[in-house]
Amino acid sequence: MWWRLSLPVQPELEESLLWKLTAMGLHRVAVQHAPEAPEQRTLLAWLPAQEWPEDQRQQLIASLVPLAETFGLKLADPRWDELADEDWSLSWKQHWQPDPVGQTLLILPAWLSVPQEHAQRLVLKMDPGSAFGTGSHPTTRLCLEALEATPPSGQRVADLGCGSGVLGLAALGLGAREVIAVDTDSLAIRATADNAELNGLSPEALLVRQGSVETLEGLLGGNPADLLLCNILAPVIEALAPGFQPVLRPDGRGLLSGLLVEQAPRLTEVLQGLGWSVQAQASQGRWGLLEIRRQP
Ligand code: SAH
Repeated sequence: MWWRLSLPVQPELEESLLWKLTAMGLHRVAVQHAPEAPEQRTLLAWLPAQEWPEDQRQQLIASLVPLAETFGLKLADPRWDELADEDWSLSWKQHWQPDPVGQTLLILPAWLSVPQEHAQRLVLKMDPGSAFGTGSHPTTRLCLEALEATPPSGQRVADLGCGSGVLGLAALGLGAREVIAVDTDSLAIRATADNAELNGLSPEALLVRQGSVETLEGLLGGNPADLLLCNILAPVIEALAPGFQPVLRPDGRGLLSGLLVEQAPRLTEVLQGLGWSVQAQASQGRWGLLEIRRQP
């Protein structure tokens, strides 16, 4: 049995709540949009009933309240529905659709086939069930579009905080020689390995291990990357930034996302202090992407 949580959300709250749920290890989440009323959105999350008795569910909601308060908003009343395992039509999978990104990429839920109109696109098959990053998050899209704009042909790419592995998969599809990926979350490691296999990639092409920037440095083995991808929240990027230098070649570049546009100035200052030139590359809604290179 499953609990399905339905929570009406204000657009400005959507991303924070998704981040929070994912951070709590809930990965079966979706946001329902009503095309005729784009302001009306419902956040959906599916929780295994066994693991979520009432007090746990109440705690979960209580942990979301402060996020709404940050924006001066009140969290709407949650609705809980109990669902049988096989109730496919109500399942989270129904909410994932083939998702064209940029000019050439297509994120394809693994259980679907390529729609005719997207036949020319580079397909990234994903089973988003177990980890963040199906490509639908604006920061993931920002990274994918930046990769597409400057394809990493022949490059050694480091994926720090790989989640579902989507960025590494895209880098390989766009010509990267190899990807070395790490994430602190063991679920992410499994998801990245599974998704690599789904896309017919060998473990040599995409190496993935549990850990953070130090692990990454070790895996690179003194042969730093040409490109660093890091899509994590701004405070985390800030904390990890002192470790960037050893993982990137002197002429390499880094694409950093996961930050809010208003967090860019502070992060830029920190990065500059650590010897990086920083360029704001793109933004989508409230989210931004920075490119870093070693200062001359
Ligand atoms: N790269 C994916 C996932 C981004 S979500 C995408 O772009 O869609 C951010 C990921 O960073 C999560 O999977 C989280 O587990 C991981 N993460 C958080 N803190 C980390 C840290 N200190 N070191 C490495 N990974 C971290």
